[in-house]
Order: sequence, then structure tokens, then C-alpha cells
Amino acid sequence: MDTAIPARPHQPRKPWYAKGIRFACACTGQCCTAHGEYDRVYISDDEAKKIAALLSLRKAEFERQFCLFEDGERQLDLGSGACPFLTRRQCSIYEARPVQCRTWPFWKENLDEKTWKQQIAPFCQGVGRGPLWSRRKIEAIARERDNADSQASR
Ligand code: SF4
Ligand code: SF4
Repeated sequence: MDTAIPARPHQPRKPWYAKGIRFACACTGQCCTAHGEYDRVYISDDEAKKIAALLSLRKAEFERQFCLFEDGERQLDLGSGACPFLTRRQCSIYEARPVQCRTWPFWKENLDEKTWKQQIAPFCQGVGRGPLWSRRKIEAIARERDNADSQASR
């Protein structure tokens, strides 16, 4: 007779943020300023078109004035150390800001518990205040950023 105990189905461990994370941007402008390894704001072709339209510029003119190209990827020129659209600690192209900005701080790599607690929470004053973002919403935002990254690299 087979007496083996059937294996229990694999239960994935709940992430540390299973009960959600409070976050509301405190408008410090810190994440719009180059710091450490965070010194690039990548933008897709569609995002470049949207920002150019908001600024009433042709895309080529927008790119000439505000972008750099590195390894075939377009990024905002942070030559002065801060994003050219950071004005008095506010984003002056808020409606057209790129997905990289819209999805901060819920990036997949930031959601590692140690990274979040040691680097992101101390850096971003918006963490721990404002509305509670559910795990589902947080993971949807992280996926949106990842999908945008994989499309941009095609
Ligand atoms: S670092 Fe955080 S609080 Fe500051 S501007 Fe960025 S998201 Fe907002
Ligand atoms: S586009 Fe706006 S949100 Fe993004 S880095 Fe520049 S100022 Fe900040």
C-alpha cells in the first residue's frame, strides 16, 4: 500500500508588502535629481511625442533641446544634475511624464525588502504617508514599468 503523504501544493510566500504600502509624493524633487546609480530618465518614442506635443515642439526639436541618446536609447538630458522639467520641485510636464516617473517608487527592484527599507524609504519622503496602496496595485505598477522597459529595448 502506498503510504506516501501527498505533497501540499506550493504556497508562494506573501511579500513583505502584502498588506500594502502607504505612499503620497511629498514633492521633494529628489527622484528627479541624479543621485548615485539613479541618473537616467529613459523615454520611449511615444513618450517623446507626447512631451513634445505638450511643449508645442516638433519631436526632433524636443530631442535636440532636451534629450541624449546612449546605446540607441533616448533619455532626458540631466546634464545640470536634475531633470530639465523639474521646476520648483514640481514636474512641469506632469500630464506627459514618462512611465519611469509615473511608476516610481514601485519599481520591481525597489520592492526587495532590504532595498526598500534601507534605500527607498529613507530617500523618498512620500513613503509611509498618504493612501494605502494595495499589493495588487503595487504589483500592477511594477509590471507596467517592466513592460515599458521591455518595449523600449525592442
Ligand atoms: S523622492 Fe518621493 S517624495 Fe520626493 S519627489 Fe520623488 S516620489 Fe515625491
Ligand atoms: S519628467 Fe517630471 S517626474 Fe520625471 S524626472 Fe523629470 S521632472 Fe521628475
